[in-house]
This record gives sequence, structure tokens and C-alpha cells, in this order.
Amino acid sequence: MAEYILDISGLNKRYGNIQAVDNLELKVEKGTVFGLLGPNGSGKSTTLGILLGVVQKDSGDFKWFGEEPTASQRRRLGAILESPTFYPYLSGIQNLQIVCKIKEVPESRILEVLEQVGLANRATSPFKTYSLGMKQRLAIASALLSDPEILILDEPTNGLDPQGIAEIRELILDIAGQGKTIILASHLLDEVQKVCTHFAVLKQGEKIFHGTVAESLMGNEGVEVLADDTESLRKVIGTFPSFIDMKLNNVGRLEVQLSKETAIHEFHEYLIEKGIVLTHLAYINKSLEKQFLQLLSAKS
Ligand code: ADP
Repeated sequence: MAEYILDISGLNKRYGNIQAVDNLELKVEKGTVFGLLGPNGSGKSTTLGILLGVVQKDSGDFKWFGEEPTASQRRRLGAILESPTFYPYLSGIQNLQIVCKIKEVPESRILEVLEQVGLANRATSPFKTYSLGMKQRLAIASALLSDPEILILDEPTNGLDPQGIAEIRELILDIAGQGKTIILASHLLDEVQKVCTHFAVLKQGEKIFHGTVAESLMGNEGVEVLADDTESLRKVIGTFPSFIDMKLNNVGRLEVQLSKETAIHEFHEYLIEKGIVLTHLAYINKSLEKQFLQLLSAKS
């Protein structure tokens, strides 16, 4: 049975005539990297704010670790909602010492978290000399000081250059690899696709989709194959029982459409049995982007 670390039911928040969160139902399983995906203004930050007790909900409920929210539970959550303010002239270590005092956590983990976010070699440099990516990594380090079970990040790569983005994504995967649950809000599909295992799509405060990234990518629009002898390959594919159609694409590979329920390994085994050795085999994915855009336009 899945263990839910977060369970939201019927959550609502209205600002004047804007329904920022609309009857939201959401469950997050322990150990997943959960993406809250939606365009700007879709209610992601408001939702995270409510979950962290900094925004008042209008109605609805949520449970962390199966229980009503309490102050002691919040200690099990590490969060970065906005770019935290660090002192520019103090070093990474000194800034984290201040965070430890504020959060009342021991300073013993400072070096460990700096190591984890890849800042150990810059630990004594003043914060103002850090790149934007390093500043964001220090923010993540500060959220990790209390060794939280859940890390909550709002748009973690906003404003970063491509290298900074890649570093933060790698770091998120690394933290997830240590068994922590991560909940991140993002308007970037690519981000969700690259780091999340599960995701929900929000539109005007409403959840319009909820699923796993892997399943969403498995839209099986067929496979792309290549063999040394294209003609024999064509002939054999044409005899495969669930074959529907094929065409040569602009890079000289055959795009093959098979009936939906076809297991690709069976298709591959069939080719091998018929003496075909593939030099290339790849899924043609219904990209998450296409689905995301379809979802957003379908409900307007
Ligand atoms: P996201 O994080 O997806 O960009 P937000 O949760 O920040 O979305 O905002 C959702 C909606 O609520 C938006 O229309 C936004 O303008 C509105 N909103 C957010 N915070 C406030 C606030 N403090 N006062 C009034 N409206 C707000």
C-alpha cells in the first residue's frame, strides 16, 4: 500500500474574485518527486503557502504524515518559497550559522549540507561572490539543515542560467536519491519531465491532471527503428501481427505504428526471430508538452 506523506482534500482559497485554489484534491506518496505544474497564476505558490502555514486557507483539509498540521510536524519539512535573504558580506558557513540559530537546529550539519550542495570549496567565501546558481544551492543547503523528510521548492530554477539550472536539477535528483520526498512547483514542463516522478497540472487553481511522468511519456505513438538492410526490415515489419503503418522519416529511420496494446519487446523479439538485427530502436513519445498544452486548452 502506498504511504501518503501529504493528503489534501477540498482545499479552497479565494482572493477577492480570484479563486486561487479551487477545491484541490491531491495525494503525494512518500519517496516521490512531485511536481505541481501550471502556468503563472495557476495557484501553485498559494497552495504551497497554505501547506506550510504561511497562507490561510478558506476551507478544506490537508494532512502531513497522516495527521492534522502541527508546529512540530513543520520541522519535518524543509522549504524554500522565495529566495531567502542571506547576508552578502558573510560567508556560506556564517550565513548557515545564523539560519541554525533562527531555526534552533544544531550547527553540526553545516559542513555536511554544504558538501551535499557542492559548496564545500566556497564555504568561506562571502555570499556576494556566489553565482546565482550557488546562491540557490545555499538556499537548498539551508532548507536541509534540519534534515527534513520533505523538501518543498517553489520554482527552484527561476532566473538561473543553463548551467545553474542543470546543477539544481542534478541536486534535486541527488536529494531524492537519499530517500527524501520532494514537492516542487514549476511552470516549466521540461523541469517536471526531467526531475519529477509524479505530477499534477493546475489551471486557475483547479487540478486538471494527476499522474506519473513515466506513464504520461508512454503515449506510445510507435517506435523508430533502423537496420542495415532497410528493405528486409520493411518486409518483416509488414508481417508483424499488430502492425498498422510505417514511414521513412527525414533522418532515414522507419517510424512504425503498432496497435496500442503492443509490447515493444515482443515486436523486437519478432524481428530477431526473423533474422533482423536492429541498429536503433526508440520510442516515439507523445511529449508531455503536447499533452500539457492540450490539457490547458481543453478546460478553458
Ligand atoms: P502561481 O504560483 O501558480 O504563479 P499564485 O498562487 O501565486 O500562482 O497565484 C494564484 C492567483 O492568486 C493569481 O491570480 C494571483 O494573482 C492571485 N494571488 C496570489 N496571492 C495573492 C494575494 N496575496 N492577494 C491577491 N491575489 C493573490
